Amino acid sequence: MVRAVYPGNFDPVTLGHLDIIQRAARVVDELIIGIAANSSKTSFFTLEEREELLKIVTENFSNVTVKVFEGITVEFARENNAHLIIRGLRAVTDFESEMQIAQTNHTIDSELDTMFFTTSLNYAFLSSTIVKEVAFYGADISKFVPPAVMRAFQQKVELRERISAL
Ligand code: ADP
Repeated sequence: MVRAVYPGNFDPVTLGHLDIIQRAARVVDELIIGIAANSSKTSFFTLEEREELLKIVTENFSNVTVKVFEGITVEFARENNAHLIIRGLRAVTDFESEMQIAQTNHTIDSELDTMFFTTSLNYAFLSSTIVKEVAFYGADISKFVPPAVMRAFQQKVELRERISAL
């Protein structure tokens, strides 16, 4: 049985992530999405919100689960008895850092391998950062994120407007 982990920040999950999840879920028996709790990046959505959104958008995949993890990916994989890490490659710019991370992980644990999925062309430009920037200026993000994420953005914006009106 092949069990894999797909680690990331998912702040928030985009259609690009979902594309990787969908394709990875077809080739492994079990896919565990891991939201990194100790990322150095400051997040827009809380861990709980990111977990909730990922659970909503993956609810139709019977072999996908969502977890939050602290510490290094290698430990997360070990704790879950997974020997495979899934990552997505968008552009050449991703390649160098992804290769470095994959080689480091494999050196720490030689039983652990990384499998890369190259992005579908229509999502090659897409990152959570870009989505947040576009959403910040009130533009339509329906081509970039699932409906549940759109609603989550709307709620944040409404909250911000209510606070600024106080
Ligand atoms: P980001 O780099 O946007 O903060 P994450 O840390 O959430 O993204 O990314 C988790 C994984 O998903 C990484 O392997 C990343 O390369 C991949 N990924 C992110 N966006 C896309 C996309 N549009 N297409 C394919 N893979 C992606």
